[in-house]
Amino acid sequence: MNIVLLGAPGAGKGTQASMLEERFGLAHISTGDIFRANIKGGTPIGKVAKSYIDAGKLVPDEVTCDIVKGRLCEEDVKGGYMLDGFPRNLFQAQELDKFAHIDLCINIDVDINLLMDRICGRRVCSCGESYHVTTLNGATTCKKCGSPLYQRDDDNPETVGKRLDTYFKETQPLVDYYKKQGKLFTVKSGKQPPSEVFAVIAAELGKRVGK
Ligand code: ADP
Ligand code: ZN
Repeated sequence: MNIVLLGAPGAGKGTQASMLEERFGLAHISTGDIFRANIKGGTPIGKVAKSYIDAGKLVPDEVTCDIVKGRLCEEDVKGGYMLDGFPRNLFQAQELDKFAHIDLCINIDVDINLLMDRICGRRVCSCGESYHVTTLNGATTCKKCGSPLYQRDDDNPETVGKRLDTYFKETQPLVDYYKKQGKLFTVKSGKQPPSEVFAVIAAELGKRVGK
């Protein structure tokens, strides 16, 4: 099963992906994580990506599509995968349909008023886990791997505002794109904790893959 995870920044795509990876063995492909690894490694892709990411804009389509296309040729995606953060506009969605077969789009729908606080209170680990300050109780290391947690450079109110604008203009239309293809499954996450959102998604996936 090949899945696109759709949702605004802060909707909880990464959190759900990490739980789905464990339960269903789907490979988790996050374009944001790939860009951050490139920035950390000082690669040419990282250098291009950084200026866009810091401005809350999308990294150019050619760069992003090439990365995903290459990633989908690797061995670990053969048993199914989840795309987290891709596609992010109509062009990317159309390109994706040329080099991949998507079975399902899971749209995590969250009230916009919750997003700013969620993102600005987010603390992340280099292993991909993320947390919110309100549930960390002062902890500064990752529960999964013990590494120190940090705040992403782009998780500040100004950049988040721009990322939300970008989302509503460019990414939200994809809800309709997948609806028209008959592939859309929307989960209203609202104020529900991640485990409850996961239960809804896992039940739907369970029906489809028999797990
Ligand atoms: P979030 O979903 O919280 O905004 P991500 O980690 O998915 O965070 O993405 C961080 C940034 O990386 C985005 O704001 C954007 O600049 C860039 N990025 C990630 N995925 C894409 C993509 N598919 N196309 C263009 N830029 C992307
Ligand atoms: Zn960790």
